[in-house]
Amino acid sequence: MVEARQAALEAAGFRVRGRVWGRPLVALSRPAPLMGAVFIGVIDRGTNVLQVRPTTLCPLSCAFCSVDAGPRSRWRAAEFYVEDPLWLAEWAGRVAAAKGVWVEALIDGVGDPFAYPRLVELVSSLKSQPGIRWVAVETHGWALSRRLIERLEEAGLDRVNLSIDTLDPEKARRLTGTPWFDVERVRRAAEYIARETGIDLHVTPVWVPGLNDEDVVEVVEWAYRIGAGKRWPPVTIQKYNRHRYGRKPRGAREMGWREFWRRLKRLEAETGLRVAWSMEEWGMKRAPRTPEPLRRGSRVGLLVAAPGWIRGHLTAVTLDLERIVTLRAPGGAALEPGARVRARITADRDGIYLAEPL
Ligand code: SF4
Repeated sequence: MVEARQAALEAAGFRVRGRVWGRPLVALSRPAPLMGAVFIGVIDRGTNVLQVRPTTLCPLSCAFCSVDAGPRSRWRAAEFYVEDPLWLAEWAGRVAAAKGVWVEALIDGVGDPFAYPRLVELVSSLKSQPGIRWVAVETHGWALSRRLIERLEEAGLDRVNLSIDTLDPEKARRLTGTPWFDVERVRRAAEYIARETGIDLHVTPVWVPGLNDEDVVEVVEWAYRIGAGKRWPPVTIQKYNRHRYGRKPRGAREMGWREFWRRLKRLEAETGLRVAWSMEEWGMKRAPRTPEPLRRGSRVGLLVAAPGWIRGHLTAVTLDLERIVTLRAPGGAALEPGARVRARITADRDGIYLAEPL
């Protein structure tokens, strides 16, 4: 019985490759599906930008992290990565081709993409997919080095979206919850990208009111000074939002959207520097969505493939290996990986599926 379940998991491309921070580390490989989940694979939100998520891992523990990533996570039940970058790039390429427009592949995730050891290969594999024109990657910058930046440039990377929330070294360590975080090093790497490579730099500080109000202004001025925004806008300020499973730092206040936009306008007026952009200015537009095989209310047979990325969830796949489905399983303890279950889809937004067992 145990062997049969194990064989079913391996046939579906799911393997546990040890543990990280006390949690199982799950590798997905061919023929595992790479759509349907928020935490791994490809997400098509109906625009010409596809999100490509190779890993859930992140070595930082940012005080405001909306996805509770890193060593100090309280909600994570397992971590995931895609073993073969080409398999992920092929999924993204297939989706891009179906959309019929030029697509940007934005490598992001519920972790930091630089925790993915095969990031350079992922960039070059994405670049070689017909239909994918630009490749960008998001990061907090902790892994950036000249050598890595040069390798990414050779692989065809177009842009780095760098979240840098303060230029103050001590505050940066506090905000990232990471004693070894070196914002000076990140700053030097960013300046190298902006001044000495063909890669564009887009700086995206998270504004956490009460924690980094003045720092955000300094970051904006620095970004403009070093020449961020060669082809895309130089800076976007991100709003701090509290999330159900996100971290909520002491002393932080959440702004409403109206207040946020009002304060951005004021910041723009005071500094003479723009920090908010329209979709058109970003080159972003609506684009046909990939046809989705499941709908809210559909009943479907699933194979439980792994623990969920957060507690109380399980990761399942459809029996034809077309989609990942996150199973909310109140009685989930009884459902072990390798088990089959009938379920009803309860949410299908942007092709991200939640289900409950029948
Ligand atoms: S905010 Fe980003 S860099 Fe910071 S812990 Fe979360 S995923 Fe990692």
